[in-house]
Amino acid sequence: MEPRTNSQVTLWAGVARIDITGGVTDQSEDPLYARIDAARNEDRLYVRALVLRNETTTAVLVTVDAVAIAEIGSIGNTYLASVRRQLQQQPGIDGDHIIVNASHCHGVVCTDIEARTVRAVRAAWQHMVPVHVGAGRGHEDRIMENRRLHLRNGREADVRRAYSLPADEEVAAVGPVDPDIGILRLDRVDGTTLAVVYNFACHPIQGMPHGGNTADLSGFASQVIEQGMQGAIALFVQGCAADINPILYKDVDNPPDAEILGQRLGLSTLHGVRQIRCDQAATLKLILERIALPRADLSVAIETLEVEQARLLQSLRPTSLNLKTFIALLLRHSLSPEFPSDDSHRYLHEAALGRDDLRRLDEHNLRLLEQYKANVQRMEELIRVQVNLQLLRMHQGKNMAAAARTVEAEVAGLRVGPFVLVTFPGELSVQTGLRLKEASPHDLTFVAGVTNGYLYYTPTAEQLRNRGGAQEDSDCLVAPEWQRQFEDHALDLLNRL
Ligand SMILES: [Zn+2]
Repeated sequence: MEPRTNSQVTLWAGVARIDITGGVTDQSEDPLYARIDAARNEDRLYVRALVLRNETTTAVLVTVDAVAIAEIGSIGNTYLASVRRQLQQQPGIDGDHIIVNASHCHGVVCTDIEARTVRAVRAAWQHMVPVHVGAGRGHEDRIMENRRLHLRNGREADVRRAYSLPADEEVAAVGPVDPDIGILRLDRVDGTTLAVVYNFACHPIQGMPHGGNTADLSGFASQVIEQGMQGAIALFVQGCAADINPILYKDVDNPPDAEILGQRLGLSTLHGVRQIRCDQAATLKLILERIALPRADLSVAIETLEVEQARLLQSLRPTSLNLKTFIALLLRHSLSPEFPSDDSHRYLHEAALGRDDLRRLDEHNLRLLEQYKANVQRMEELIRVQVNLQLLRMHQGKNMAAAARTVEAEVAGLRVGPFVLVTFPGELSVQTGLRLKEASPHDLTFVAGVTNGYLYYTPTAEQLRNRGGAQEDSDCLVAPEWQRQFEDHALDLLNRL
């Protein structure tokens, strides 16, 4: 092994971490924050900055514990441009060399997050040291699930807290997850670790037992890594998590606990980090480009869903039961299917006299139970339709009001040694990430959504055939052609990195 000396080091890096935890006064009207008790802090939210530099290139990676850096949540649409402008002024970093990823946790952040972001990058810039670079993978498949359900009728539904799940017997299959943790490790020349950048796909939305403000599972994962590697900063980069939820997201038997999930992710990342050897020389490359994606015309999808809504409403059947009588009857028929209406001897007594009044009553009640259950299922469906219809109408309104028929999206490609990252502002589905990783010429390719802006959900063209059936395909403003355009561009960019 060759000795490591400073003269051989070509890459410099600096890191910083600043608290951005919000409180009650920072809690905006956004319904995303509605369930958070901001007076209570479960853990801290941070902005973390990594500045990388060699003789020719500077690249900045910022990660923010927030739902997004535009459009939703409390970070305004001017945030990214303003941060870039300030960093251009001091210390003179080109705006197109700055990548900002939101973890997508639904925590409340402080109102002066812009100033704190700028401060974090400037601090990282001021403390750059020579580094050695390594990259690799970790593995975690216990903390998440695909939230899109393939139904027997060919449609898809999703696992949300906003509405009920479809009936068990309607669910035919579930989609994939991506267990890859993409890891970039930066060591100081003395061998201690300066930074761990890790990319993983999962909505950090499990929440905490007390309902307080939290950076959720990715926040806890970073905590584990930073405690496990003293002196290192862990930057979580959200992956392609549009259709990936924390496991047991809708559990009603246990209090929600993001900490357990985050600790698993953190430990699995640490395990991956420890397999990585850092080398002295490393390529640093950053390409940032803007593409125009087609906005969708959602009028047909809205009309179709309105027809479905009317059909469901018409399909509700008259029934003599109410919730009280339904539950009482349901219990009796479940406890004693043979003799639900009375004690067994009464049935025997009737039979001995040649009567079947109780049996006839049971048959009648069973029919009522079935009718009532069918009505409940239609009501649950109506709620799903109503919630998704609202999303479609919101995006149709935005698209109609927009000056252009296209929407701009920043696509960035970052290469640090063997570590390659492609980023996109929309919430990407896990299939998109898996496909790009497979098609990339680089072994260690990773993909990040919710980066450099926010473009709502960007599900696959295939998922968009289900428009109106699930959140991802309803909370979306682009036409299905977006996928081909983005993937072609991303692959081209990967080939140039
Ligand atoms: Zn989301």
